[in-house]
Amino acid sequence: MKTISDINFDNKRALIRVDFNVPLNKDREVTDNTRIKAAIPTIKLILEKGGSVVLMSHLGRPKNGAEEKFSLKHVVKSLELLIGTDVTFIDDCISDKAFEITKNLSSGKVVLLENLRFYSEEKDGNLEFAKKLSQHGDIYINDAFGTAHREHASTAIIAEFFPENKYFGLLLEKEIKNIDALLKSPQAPTTAIIGGAKVSSKISIIEKLIDTVDQIIIGGGMAYTFVKAQGGQVGDSLVEDDYLQTALEVLSLAKEKDVQIHLPIDTIVADRFANDAIAKSCEISKIEEGWMGLDIGAETIDRFNTVIQSSRTILWNGPMGVFEMENFKNGTVAVANALVNATDAGAFTLIGGGDSVSAINQLNLAERVSYVSTGGGAMLEYLEGIELPGIKAILN
Ligand code: AMP
Repeated sequence: MKTISDINFDNKRALIRVDFNVPLNKDREVTDNTRIKAAIPTIKLILEKGGSVVLMSHLGRPKNGAEEKFSLKHVVKSLELLIGTDVTFIDDCISDKAFEITKNLSSGKVVLLENLRFYSEEKDGNLEFAKKLSQHGDIYINDAFGTAHREHASTAIIAEFFPENKYFGLLLEKEIKNIDALLKSPQAPTTAIIGGAKVSSKISIIEKLIDTVDQIIIGGGMAYTFVKAQGGQVGDSLVEDDYLQTALEVLSLAKEKDVQIHLPIDTIVADRFANDAIAKSCEISKIEEGWMGLDIGAETIDRFNTVIQSSRTILWNGPMGVFEMENFKNGTVAVANALVNATDAGAFTLIGGGDSVSAINQLNLAERVSYVSTGGGAMLEYLEGIELPGIKAILN
């Protein structure tokens, strides 16, 4: 793999695609700087090696050109604090003024361009736009794993303007190394814990994991579709009726391949979808009408914990219940703690996908598992064996 550690950056401008798509509060302050932090090692390495840095990123989902609430100017303060140096913010990406600033950048300087998605050409993967962006740097670096599955101008197309000078950043390198540890050389037994709302959004990853792991734990909203498919009563729980047949096929495919699937046995049901709903515990296949399962139950937590403690390589994607509500976060918290214990006992634990990452961060346990991936969709696609455009563009 091409790595920036061996490159001479002396008086070179590194144009880096980073992922600064961070949450902002109503005062436009960064509420979680994890993604900015993750980009710092690459930036610092280049500055230490005598280079200068031009950063480009997207933020949020602007619909129609520039929108103040999605301006990257809101991240400048956090970025400056983390790098420990001033950052020049340019309020567009491809104007003459922007090129004037980056053309003669002296070493040690850091520039941040405005939100790439203020230009529709970014998502369209427009070649002309990519070519213009490419003029901001002598070396192109992709360090944005979160968007590596997108074939956008700044994540993939731009690479062709740097045939001899394109590299992965340290973060992207680390992401690939850690996911490969699960895919290519895992220590058995390997377990995937898949949760979250819907079977439909996780079905291809579950099918792929059946070829990769020894056991799969299924929790969260998607479990009820599996339970109903097997003839259980799930009351008003979240169910995708279009996926009942698919759920049965997954179960039989797993059996064929000797992969054990662990479904919840008990659940915490509520009389409505609210934190202060009336709640009680019951068997997952005997939920009465008027009740919906919002978390896994105590017996399930025990079982899942036993499976997790006996595993040597573990992937976790998706919460076990509606963890955003205080009263239904128990199952997700228990899985997070089980992963910490497994890590302490020597297992390799990889967490990826938006909500399990927020759960582990909220609990302050991110440092206590082996690796927390910054890519949700990108990680899932990589695990599914799809060649990500952002990775392919650097390697080819
Ligand atoms: P995903 O983005 O597919 O990983 O789904 C995450 C979402 O699933 C979170 O917002 C959870 O609140 C939700 N979720 C987890 N368990 C349940 C459940 N039993 N019923 C409804 N939603 C759930």
